[in-house]
Amino acid sequence: MFDNLSDRLSGIFTKLRGKGRLTDADIDATAREIRLALLEADVALPVVKQFIANLKERARGSEVSEALNPAQQIIKIVHEELITILGGEGRRLQFAKNPPTVIMLAGLQGSGKTTLAGKLSRWLKGQGHQPLLVAADLQRPNAVNQLQVLAGRAGVDVYAPSPGNGVGDPVQVAKDSIEHAKRTAKDIVIVDTAGRLGIDAEMMQQARDIRDAVDPDEVIFVIDAMVGQDAVSTAEAFRDGVGITGVVLSKLDGDARGGAALSVRHVTGQPILFASTGEKLEDFDVFHPDRMASRILG
Ligand code: GDP
Repeated sequence: MFDNLSDRLSGIFTKLRGKGRLTDADIDATAREIRLALLEADVALPVVKQFIANLKERARGSEVSEALNPAQQIIKIVHEELITILGGEGRRLQFAKNPPTVIMLAGLQGSGKTTLAGKLSRWLKGQGHQPLLVAADLQRPNAVNQLQVLAGRAGVDVYAPSPGNGVGDPVQVAKDSIEHAKRTAKDIVIVDTAGRLGIDAEMMQQARDIRDAVDPDEVIFVIDAMVGQDAVSTAEAFRDGVGITGVVLSKLDGDARGGAALSVRHVTGQPILFASTGEKLEDFDVFHPDRMASRILG
């Protein structure tokens, strides 16, 4: 991911090498090229506009340093603005004062929610927590089984519907899971919810009902970084429909253009908490805006 964008940016920076002081015309020309590179990487238009406005203002402004040549100055500004659109300092997971901490996962079908449930539980277990995975995705026939397999690999327990405990009713399952977590001394509950291939009212309603039943500390929106411009409308729909507190980018190992990854923070107004980079449980880490920005700049 980002290979194209990285190449484009490094081409733009190369052209600036050896230049003396940058004129306003140089800055405008460079900003235009960066704008195009971002748009071609599928970054959402409002994000690109903000980025370019900041870049121009800073490049023309007083911060121009004698210690850096023009190319270095532009690289520094682009680096810092990338960090800004990716979330600045970043934020870590919020834990409840009174356990269990409840984390609800939401997103389209195929975005990587169930896989994330496994990854997150493994990661949290590694930090000394006792997570419980909850199978509240009862739409997809194989989802419960998939969650059980992942839980087995992560070495954590699953709460799933069985006769007598809310078969077919994900809201009831989610609700009961909190009591189950308390009884079995789990300090974190991760609720996997159903997604659809596209946004629909029924799915949003179910997600809201589950949210209201479990009163989550975090509602994590999982977004497939491979999706292009659609990412923005999907993110907006989940932001408005369920209310999200954080984002996880999945499939960052893919070869898509990366615009979703660069837009989702701005579009949702919520921080990117983790990044998934493969199908295995260990292909997962805390998200670091600065590292991602450095990776994009190569
Ligand atoms: P859900 O429908 O949202 O629960 O999505 P799943 O967790 O079932 O994931 C859908 C597909 O994407 C599965 O084949 C996963 O193995 C795959 N997947 C999930 N996360 C990643 C990732 O970070 N990278 C790659 N390459 N594949 C992933």
